[in-house]
Amino acid sequence: MKTQVRPRRSRGGTKQPALRGRGGKTPPQTDRLADRMGLLGTETAFEVLARAKTLEAAGRSIIHLEIGEPDFDTPEHIKEAAIRALRDGYTHYTPAAGMLELREAIAEYVGRTRGIAVGPDHVVVTPGAKPIMFFVMLALVNPGDEVVYPDPGFPIYESVARFIGARPVPWTLREDREFRADPEDLRKAVGPRTRLVILNSPHNPTAGVLSRRDVEDIAGIVRGRPITVLSDEIYSRILYDGTFSSIASVPGLQEQTVILDGFSKTYAMTGWRLGYGVMRPSLAARIAQLMVNSNSCTAAFTQMAGIAALRGPQDSVDRMVAEFRRRRDVITDGLTRLPGVRCFRPHGAFYAFPSVRAIDPDTGRLQEYLLNEAGVALLSGTAFGVQGRGFLRLSYATSVEVITEGLRRIGQAIEHYTPSGRGRSVQAPVVRASSVKSRVSAPRYRR
Ligand code: PLP
Repeated sequence: MKTQVRPRRSRGGTKQPALRGRGGKTPPQTDRLADRMGLLGTETAFEVLARAKTLEAAGRSIIHLEIGEPDFDTPEHIKEAAIRALRDGYTHYTPAAGMLELREAIAEYVGRTRGIAVGPDHVVVTPGAKPIMFFVMLALVNPGDEVVYPDPGFPIYESVARFIGARPVPWTLREDREFRADPEDLRKAVGPRTRLVILNSPHNPTAGVLSRRDVEDIAGIVRGRPITVLSDEIYSRILYDGTFSSIASVPGLQEQTVILDGFSKTYAMTGWRLGYGVMRPSLAARIAQLMVNSNSCTAAFTQMAGIAALRGPQDSVDRMVAEFRRRRDVITDGLTRLPGVRCFRPHGAFYAFPSVRAIDPDTGRLQEYLLNEAGVALLSGTAFGVQGRGFLRLSYATSVEVITEGLRRIGQAIEHYTPSGRGRSVQAPVVRASSVKSRVSAPRYRR
């Protein structure tokens, strides 16, 4: 017998189907979600990637500039360490905060690279760095408290802040400062209810990099207040000029700072899910408790790989960064040559964030046009907050060949583009997807 489906209004006002089973009885609404799910955002990069893959499966040639992960393979000695660990029986639970040997390696590494004193009791290892955002907000921020976050910025900051009932307060990053967060704007954003201030340098999506002076000025504003700084330093090794400055290294600020870092970007290990937070030990104990309540621990053999990554040779990181630098120049020069496009030369990470306002300030519309008509997958700046309007984000963590073809297609597409008429089709599959290869031989998964 068929189940009847009849729409019904939920408390939130959205239509939900009412299910009627045998005998006309209404079964419990198992598909009704908790209200808080309506507050949760997402990372558009994964959605655009999925749609681009669908187009590819239908035979379209797509240039991928949407996803932020190195196209390099994980260095061989790191993979070997994981294989050895599996053979040696690292297939069981570990302490929730991570194995002592890995926490020691992280403490030594973070202490050395930031010039601060770090011990293993400051460190919590997590499956990827993302859980640190979630856990820190869960641990420190009450409903109604304020979280200051960069806009444009990594979308998960705002998403999690809303999810836990906090009030997200945007900190606008401006192009005229090459997207370095302006401490003066922070001064206006913080108030008595501010519990967390989020920094991200080098920055996704804008590639802005905070100077030493910037972090000192920011430190001057938060010092002495009941505010923790979540300093997202996941791109700290992917830097093309200058030196990296962590706010944790400003005298007196370490106690107030949580450093978020990990292995995904630096060692091309996005799929391994290995990251960490470095923080005051009292908070680390609570974050470990959140690990007990969620993941139990991070996989043991990936932790062994993490030790090999930090303690082993670093030349593959240097080579990767040198190659990113070459690609940065190709993409910035190429974008700058396009009419209506303005792009500053990024100092870190692997994203270009050009202004395309002169072509169409509605960059959501432009993103769709470029995907559907030109076969170029990239992201509207609005995927990173309202202040991203008028910008596009292009990831250049892909080969020069792919970047060059992407630029060619974008150039051709915008020639035909009129915002109202949305241009005409310019899809020119001159280069077939299979003939434009990234440097990596690693498998690409169907998603
Ligand atoms: N922070 C920023 C700014 C990122 O761009 C990303 C990933 O894209 C992360 C954190 C998450 O890193 P992981 O893959 O280790 O969870």
